[in-house]
Amino acid sequence: MDIAAPDHQSIFAENLPKTGANYVPLSPLSFLRRSERVFAEKTAVTHHGRSWTYRQFAERCRRFAAGVRAAGVRPGECVAVLAPNGPPALEAHYGVPLAGAVLCALNTLLDAATIGFILNHAEAKLLLVDREWAPKAKAALAGLGRELRVIEIADEAAPAGLTLDAPEYEDWLAAHEPAAWSGPADEWDAIAVCYTSGTTGNPKGVVYHHRGAYLGALGAALEIGLTPASAYLWTLPMFHCSGWTFTWGVTAIGATHVCLRKIEPGAIFQKILDHNVTHMCGAPIVLNMLVNATPAQIKALPHPVRAATGGAAPPTAIIAGMERLGFFMQHVYGLTEVYGPSSTCEPQPEWPALTLEERAKKLSRQGVPNIAEEDFTVLAPDGGVVPADGATIGELAFRGNVVMKGYLKNPKATEEVFRNGWFLTGDLGVMHPDSYIEIKDRSKDIIISGGENISSLEVEEVLYRHPLIREAAVVAAPDEKWGEIPCAFIVLKDDAVLTVEDVTAFCKQNMAGFKVPKKVLFQELPKTSTGKIQKNLLRQALKSS
Ligand code: ADP
Repeated sequence: MDIAAPDHQSIFAENLPKTGANYVPLSPLSFLRRSERVFAEKTAVTHHGRSWTYRQFAERCRRFAAGVRAAGVRPGECVAVLAPNGPPALEAHYGVPLAGAVLCALNTLLDAATIGFILNHAEAKLLLVDREWAPKAKAALAGLGRELRVIEIADEAAPAGLTLDAPEYEDWLAAHEPAAWSGPADEWDAIAVCYTSGTTGNPKGVVYHHRGAYLGALGAALEIGLTPASAYLWTLPMFHCSGWTFTWGVTAIGATHVCLRKIEPGAIFQKILDHNVTHMCGAPIVLNMLVNATPAQIKALPHPVRAATGGAAPPTAIIAGMERLGFFMQHVYGLTEVYGPSSTCEPQPEWPALTLEERAKKLSRQGVPNIAEEDFTVLAPDGGVVPADGATIGELAFRGNVVMKGYLKNPKATEEVFRNGWFLTGDLGVMHPDSYIEIKDRSKDIIISGGENISSLEVEEVLYRHPLIREAAVVAAPDEKWGEIPCAFIVLKDDAVLTVEDVTAFCKQNMAGFKVPKKVLFQELPKTSTGKIQKNLLRQALKSS
């Protein structure tokens, strides 16, 4: 939609100014302020056998804000957190912005050097660390070249014996009187900075604003169908795009946050039963763990649990496997730059009548813009939109209010991704006649063999359908004759036996000949800190072999 510029002075524009009564900068802080009032005695958070009401949760966040201010952190400065899913990581999403500061939730799987890089790049002024990560934090701090104030979180569920000898989180909260509610002066102010996983060099700091966080969170809550009666299980890290904005969305609706420190299939099923969990999110890798869980770990679900998945292409076989376990699947797509998922594969009324396989196939598409995003399209190289023919490949692009401000201290990278009013994702795909978008590959992952494009995702999709294959990744291997050939890396299910010939025969039955992997290797797959398969490492290994 283009913005219509008036060519005359409208009578409605005169003397009708924004005032405190009719305009409040949008901020997710408003959600907790409301839930504190409306749901005061309702359970807001559960963790490791304990729970906190919305009154208690809000009070803790307000104490957190007072602590941040008392530590000398000024508005617009950064507070970093290195903690698993639990009350402190959640409270940071309110305590830090209430102090006017900007949250940097660190990925706990990063190495000390990268953590050090991020702390200095974001110029963090305060760091909160869960004791489990004390050794890593110590190493990062040692290489920082400056002093940084630290608060340590002594979570009961953390392994014993580790410490940073810093003030403890609970004592720190108790030492400060709750701050009064206030919001940002401008909804465009930064609320958080999330670092991309940095598969191609140093990670980039993606800056979120209060407005985007507010709209993204409401969109997320609406899309997944949260109500005040919902219980949301934290199977997605809160440090990943602020938990796809559910850190704020669950609070907005007054549902319950059910924390989970470690992602284990048995624990996930148990939490669902113990807390009457209704909703959760997770990357396909987490779903794959559930689908492949042992019979002892799997529990019959008392009701369908709505699960949103994205972050990587979920193979149809995994979606179908989850639905068989009793989950109701929602497929979402996005990137850190658009606060996590910003498109959704909106189910149509006729889909439930389809067979499970047909439905799973429809659901494996990345879909349409979600409620909070303005537009999602596929752009041709000339900047126009590709025809909706399901065949013409272009670059996926978003525009709207749930798009980052830009990359921190990196105008060149920011300029590269913002073009002609669109945010370019770097992903390639097609638009189907029903306007649903389907990703074919990341631009750097597409395989060009003898001049033909091969979507690695399409080949993987077939491999995942093989009953003995647990994980698969297909990348380009250099080849003298073809330029590139598809090479499949495969992890088999426990105790499964499969030969290269078996895999090739299976592929030949299920795809065009030129797409069949010409090389098949059985080996573990390297993963990023967010659990994504590092295809760049697989490609490198092939080049040097
Ligand atoms: P990084 O770029 O560091 O991997 P992100 O978490 O921002 O970090 O990853 C975004 C990328 O993940 C997208 O550009 C896309 O390639 C992939 N992705 C996300 N969701 C999906 C999905 N539903 N289907 C396929 N790919 C996805």
